[in-house]
Amino acid sequence: MATGVLSIDLGAVARNWTMLRALHAPGEVAAVVKADAYGLGAARVAPVLARAGCRHFFVATPDEGEALREALGEGPMVAVLDGFSGRAHPRLTPVLNSLDEVRHARGDAILHLDTGMNRLGLPAAEVDALAREPGLAEGLRLRYVMTHLAAAEDPSHPLNDRQLDAFAAACARLPRARRSLANSSGLFLGERFRSELARPGAALYGINPTPGRDNPMEQVVTLRLPILQLREVPPGGTVGYGGAWLATRPTRIATVAGGYADGIPRAWEGRGWGVLHGREVPLAGRVSMDLMGFDVTDAPPARPGDMVEILGLGQDQDDVGAAAGTIGYEILTRLGRRFVREYVGA
Ligand SMILES: *Cc1c(COP(=O)(O)O)cnc(C)c1O
Repeated sequence: MATGVLSIDLGAVARNWTMLRALHAPGEVAAVVKADAYGLGAARVAPVLARAGCRHFFVATPDEGEALREALGEGPMVAVLDGFSGRAHPRLTPVLNSLDEVRHARGDAILHLDTGMNRLGLPAAEVDALAREPGLAEGLRLRYVMTHLAAAEDPSHPLNDRQLDAFAAACARLPRARRSLANSSGLFLGERFRSELARPGAALYGINPTPGRDNPMEQVVTLRLPILQLREVPPGGTVGYGGAWLATRPTRIATVAGGYADGIPRAWEGRGWGVLHGREVPLAGRVSMDLMGFDVTDAPPARPGDMVEILGLGQDQDDVGAAAGTIGYEILTRLGRRFVREYVGA
């Protein structure tokens, strides 16, 4: 094996969804599968969730929506968060993000109200206009009115309550429709953040929705990279670009297949580590495009072809993200296309 193996546990994804559904009952729970199910493969993930009982899926773009519809067949709702940009997509449900989109849309739709994100959705002035002239939404069948929480991963953030109140006030002025509120972290903010449809993404894929506390989700992804070569570096020798890593003792370096072109952040330098035969081995030197070195001097003897685990139970996407100055979301969505993908547990 000359490339890494990305193993995706579809059973764990289904169990994560089922756990969230129980937590949110009697409200329903959708699945956000944008960006190819956060990099894990929407065409494999979504059908497994549909079999577990999921009836509502969210993607970002119409192209993602059309591909997902092919994978799922007719039946479940496929909603497009970024809207349709004027084109027709009869098999998809648009999320309407402005009053102008409301004016032009017909049929099934989801109305997105901006309650503090200032990203997409009708701002307060447009909610006002719609409340004064409800006829604007006449040709629409509003499946849901939704809003998106900006800071749900921090339960003490004042935006949470502010958004909840703004959403309730706006909904009260609009034609009655079912509501959709919580993302992954919002599901853990308690009763008041329940709605008729939660929209988790990250938690389904094992990302911790409660940062700073124990992760209630099951780990989904394992990434193992093969050792291509081992070499002895004497004291004073350097490893990798820039000679940035200096051996201070006789050192054994394992060079593995995987680098920033595969989504391993270059900013991992100095803080990264992997697991070899049960032992933590530190990253040695810079992350190259296709390669990385690990100091395996203290690990049990290894041979080319042995695997260094980068993501799994020992260290997950949130750990790697934190060590590289980013978040688990970015780690998963950037995992490269060169890895051999292995789907297990379905
Ligand atoms: C991405 C997204 C979600 C899912 O958020 P997670 O934090 O991954 O659970 C829900 N709603 C909207 C509008 C989104 O853009």
